[in-house]
Parts: sequence; structure tokens; C-alpha cells
Amino acid sequence: VSRRVAVAQIMHETNTFSVQPGDRAAFEKMYLLSGEAYLDRVRGAAVETQGFLEVAAKEGWTVVPTVGAAANPCGKVTDAVFDWIVDKLTAPMRDGPIDGVLLALHGAMVSESHDDAEGAILEAVRRMIGPKPPIAVTFDLHANVSDRTMDLADIVISYRTYPHIDMRERGVQAAELLAATMAGRIAPRTLLARRPLLKGVDGARTDKGPTVAMMATLRAQEAEPGILAASLNAGFWHADIVDVGPTVTVVHDTKVAGAADRARAIAEAMMDEQWRLRRHVTNVFLTPAQAAAEAKAHDGVGGPLIIADFADNPGGGSYGDSTTILEAMLAASVTDAAVGTMRDAVAAAACHAAGLGATLTLAIGGKVDPKFGGGPLTLTGTVVHLSDGEYVNLGPMSAGMRKSLGACATFRVAGIDIVLASNLLQVLDRAQFLANGIDPAAKKVLLIKSMQHFRAAFEPIAARVIVADGGGLVSPDYSNITFHKARRPLFPLDEMPDRLPAA
Ligand SMILES: [Zn+2]
Repeated sequence: VSRRVAVAQIMHETNTFSVQPGDRAAFEKMYLLSGEAYLDRVRGAAVETQGFLEVAAKEGWTVVPTVGAAANPCGKVTDAVFDWIVDKLTAPMRDGPIDGVLLALHGAMVSESHDDAEGAILEAVRRMIGPKPPIAVTFDLHANVSDRTMDLADIVISYRTYPHIDMRERGVQAAELLAATMAGRIAPRTLLARRPLLKGVDGARTDKGPTVAMMATLRAQEAEPGILAASLNAGFWHADIVDVGPTVTVVHDTKVAGAADRARAIAEAMMDEQWRLRRHVTNVFLTPAQAAAEAKAHDGVGGPLIIADFADNPGGGSYGDSTTILEAMLAASVTDAAVGTMRDAVAAAACHAAGLGATLTLAIGGKVDPKFGGGPLTLTGTVVHLSDGEYVNLGPMSAGMRKSLGACATFRVAGIDIVLASNLLQVLDRAQFLANGIDPAAKKVLLIKSMQHFRAAFEPIAARVIVADGGGLVSPDYSNITFHKARRPLFPLDEMPDRLPAA
């Protein structure tokens, strides 16, 4: 008889400093679906659930679809939508025996009532299915992993890439480990190690810097007997919770003698390395004026110069409407440039009302919380393109996923095409420009609101990338935010000795 395996995808990275709630509307802008509608929304895309489904087909499982929920990073998830998600997740498990569970979670979700929302999700699943059926979880590399998660889930593995281009592969890996567990070939447990760190070394960027070698070490260790998977989580540091910070998690086979001890040693050694290299930062953060000067000097040879607006990354829960770098570009007379995107639904609507070709004066951006990243800019420009903001990711990240920026207008000001978008979304795909009448490869300068994910799609078309701190909510300078609940001491919030006292 076919095994019944429940699947879900629940993704939210919660920036507890954001003033914007993770409410039902925030999820509905991405997706909030149950049953087959959830599978239909993600099937065929380069995401975890697709990986689950591929293994399910091969193994002949009966898939029990439960819930698919994702919102752009923002503030705490409201209890109303969280409870809805948990209900849609657990209710189908009442309809028959469940042999195993596959959960694609982010790992850094905070709800109004749960600082460890993933732990609460796992607890609800365990309440429904009991202690026996194995649960396999995939996490984003930016997960803040709790000890409770180690108790409740059997298998926990995280993305290995930043930009995240291995979501589907991790889904396959988790499902294959679940299959081996259900067949009795392995008896996995996962353990974790942590240090008093707010964030992983170098934000765990995996394209450059010290994380490259750390990931290679973990890959080699996975080949050892009884070691099934080893993950390095950078953590998500704009979360004022006890469990904030990086971890290493190691899945090991309790049937193999010595595997648990070896897993512990692997995890602790890698966290020692994280501690040792804690001050390393590959990025060089420019001021808005410095970035604008570099852009002005770029001759266009080899493709566009890209300015990453690191601090206003909507993928970290920033507001996507910081104006400081655009203001500097205008002051420096940078032309043949595009801005992707400036989130401002009011300005976008004004452009739609005025119509294509209209010239108008608008207050742009800086509206959500002007103390982060500057206030509105009053600019006169021309509407050169209007769209509904719908697009399909070209990839490599989340290739094939349908997304929406909401109603968009491309507003041209002094040679800079500013994409005014209604929805908050990180810019990490060329389709976000193409849907708005802009060929990003043909521009001399691109200002992109993203920390790191844009690199997967945009570095191949760029002459050069520079990174700027425009003072947005997720600035690398933490002096504008105050932690109250995070465990202390914690580097770099607190100065600490190089040699930590033994745990
Ligand atoms: Zn992430």
C-alpha cells in the first residue's frame, strides 16, 4: 500500500523591526493556498515542493497536499493568518494515517504569539500525527534554528547557496532522506551548535569569501559514515528573538555507532570557525555619494555598473522605498540608468491615472518610515511604461515562479528610469525590469534593491557590482535598531573576548 506523505511550503522571514505586519494581505500578494491549489502554484518551479513531488512520484507515495503560504519578508505574522496556516496544515492529517511529513519552511518566522514560529508549526504537526512518523524540514540558509526544532523534526537541512539557487535540490534531498527513514534504512536525528553570534560570517555569501571553504568542508564531511547532511545557517539578524543567530545543523544516522559524536564534533568545529572569522566582511560599503560618483564615471563598457542598495533590501524586510542613493545619482547627473524598484503604490497609481506619456510631478518613495533611508523625493518626470507587474522568474533563482510587483509605472526623470512598484519584492530577476519596458543589459547603470540575491541573475550581464549603504532598515550599521529579547552577550552588539568560556 502506498505511503501517505503530507507536504507543505510555509515561507516567511520576519523582520521584527519592520512596522509593516505580516498579515493576510501580505501573504495574498505572494500566495496563500491550501490543498491542490498550493501544488498547482509551485509545481514545475525551482522550489522545494517541486523537489518533494519528484521524489514522491519516483517512490509511488500518495501526496497529501496541505498548505502553501509565502509573503515577502516584513514584520511579525499576525495570529489570524498564522492560525489559518496551521489549521490548513494539520486538518488534512486527520483524514487518514500519515507515514511521513515534508515541510519547506523558511526558519526565521516570528508571529505575534510565537517567537519560534517554526517550532510552533512542528509542535502542531506532532500533536496531530504523534511522535512516530518522521518529519523532514528544509530551511532557508537564513534560518534562526531553535533547540525545539531539533526535538520535533528528524531531518533538518538548509539551502547551501546564497544567492539561493538550490531550493529544488534541497527538497529532493530531504524527501530522499525521508524515504530512507520510512523504509527503515536509516534512523536520523539532527543536532545543532551555536555561538554568541548575531549573524553568520560574511552573511554566509557563498559566491566569495570564507564561506566557500566552509561549505566545501561540510560537503566532504557528509561523505563520512553515518553523516547524512550538514548545513550552515547564517541566521537572520533583523529578528529580536532569543534564538537569533547562526547555527550548524548535522543530520546523522543513529543506527551507525559513533555518528552522533562525530556529528557533534563537526557542528562544534564549524561554529568555532564561524566565531574565529566573525569580523570578516567581503562587501565594501560605499556611501550614496561615493556610489553615485562611481556610476557617473562608468563608461558603459562591458555592461551596466550595478549599485546594490544593500540596506533597503526588501528580501530582508526593508521597505523598498529608500531614496538616498537615487537622490545622490540625480545630484551627480547619472543618466542612462534604471532603478529597480522603488516601492510606492501611491505614485504608481498616479502614473496609471495620468496615462502613458504624461508628464507629472510626484513625491516618490520614503513614505513608510523616513527615518530609514530618507524621505520622499519630489520629482518631475514622464510616464514611459505602465504594467500590471506580473512576471515569471527567468532564474536561476526560483526559475519558473510566477510573481507580481502589483501595478507598476516606469517614470523617467533626467535620464533615470524609475520603476515604481505597488508590491514589496526584492529585485533578483531580470524579468522584473523586462516586465516594465527596460532591458537591464542595455542600461549603463542599474540601482537594485537587493543585498546578494541579485548576483545570480545580474552579475552575468554586469561590468561591475558595487555595494552601497543608503541607510535603509537593514543597514549593516545596527545603531538605528535596538535589541531587547535577543540573548546577550552577542557579537557584534557586545564586545567579547576571542576565547569564549567553555559551554
Ligand atoms: Zn535567505
